[in-house]
Amino acid sequence: MEKRNCPPSPSPRSTEKSGRDLRSGDSNGGTNTNSNTITRGEKGVNVQVILRCRPLSDEETKSNTPVVISCNERRREVAATQIIANKQIDRTFAFDKVFGPSSKQKDLFEQSISPIVNEVLEGYNCTIFAYGQTGTGKTYTMEGGGTRKTKNGELPTDAGVIPRAVRQIFDILEAQCAEYSMKVTFLELYNEEITDLLAPEEPKFPVPEDKTKKPIALMEDGKGFVFVRGLEEEIVYSAGEIYKILDKGSAKRRTAETLLNKQSSRSHSIFSITIHIKELTHEGEEMIKIGKLNLVDLAGSENISRSGARDGRAREAGEINKSLLTLGRVINALVEHSGHVPYRDSKLTRLLRDSLGGKTKTCIIATISPSVYCLEETLSTLDYAHRAKNIKNKPEVNQ
Ligand code: ADP
Ligand code: MG
Repeated sequence: MEKRNCPPSPSPRSTEKSGRDLRSGDSNGGTNTNSNTITRGEKGVNVQVILRCRPLSDEETKSNTPVVISCNERRREVAATQIIANKQIDRTFAFDKVFGPSSKQKDLFEQSISPIVNEVLEGYNCTIFAYGQTGTGKTYTMEGGGTRKTKNGELPTDAGVIPRAVRQIFDILEAQCAEYSMKVTFLELYNEEITDLLAPEEPKFPVPEDKTKKPIALMEDGKGFVFVRGLEEEIVYSAGEIYKILDKGSAKRRTAETLLNKQSSRSHSIFSITIHIKELTHEGEEMIKIGKLNLVDLAGSENISRSGARDGRAREAGEINKSLLTLGRVINALVEHSGHVPYRDSKLTRLLRDSLGGKTKTCIIATISPSVYCLEETLSTLDYAHRAKNIKNKPEVNQ
């Protein structure tokens, strides 16, 4: 990266040094009250809801799977065709943005996510999450298809939202010669239990118990802000470091086989990047601007019977659905401006509380399959996502 706009001295490592000073600020992004920090996000805005339909897989194409979804990107509409009692019923849903089966990772990122990343660098607290049935492209959209390896410094064409967001953050900070510090966390929610995906490997032989190590737990401070106690925070200085952390964390994610998708993930994962940027006010006073980006890959939204879950699996699916059901109830309560919003009923909604109805900007990417065999789940995703479109992220919403 050329540094021609930079003052003579700064180098990437000078940020490292200043980073140590910056790290003393609040890490909650948008929730601190420290007098020399800036947090933004007071404006009431709609949650942005994006709909993405994946293409038919090779197998589905070979077996001539009927397509029942049509996407009109220009009109930002999706139509689902259903045959009930020999009658064709078309239902159309409108979204903020629609990406059809031939849409490219780059286009989705540039048109919908890149502006959100800019907001993070302006000091906003932003959350992007992928919602949909297993096998519809949540992980493909968030992480990407194949490897994350760069070629000549370029990301692969199938790189997803997370690596592209990371790249944009570093490109902008380096172009601005900003003094910043950055840290990331990566956690998984599985059966309502939090697992730290960045925690060091368990030792293979017994070692004396570390009395200082606190267990992972969801905690609330005196002001009602939620945080995860004991979560590893990795300080990062380059995009490459984050890619390595992502690989390490993703490999640790628990997966279980379902009848729908052998690789399906049955856990929710939350990857968070917190950035402290030093800024001078018009009066020449030093301020720390804090931005936070949460990237959430939700577990499959399908119901228990369709995924063939039984026994232990049924409990697991029930717990997964508990979080998703509560997320749905929270969305309903926010849409209806109901007095009680049940954030506390699941860990996912407690963790995402500040992203739904709080002082943040939220983007939901709902993913669907075009296949007739997924229609029931697709309609449920379309309903769910369409409903989410009416949430306003207003701080005054009753909590
Ligand atoms: P999920 O995370 O929702 O279970 P995946 O992201 O694992 O689904 O996607 C399932 C399969 O479909 C993968 O093989 C993935 O590469 C492919 N896929 C998903 N979305 C797309 C897309 N938009 N373009 C091409 N392939 C896709
Ligand atoms: Mg997945």
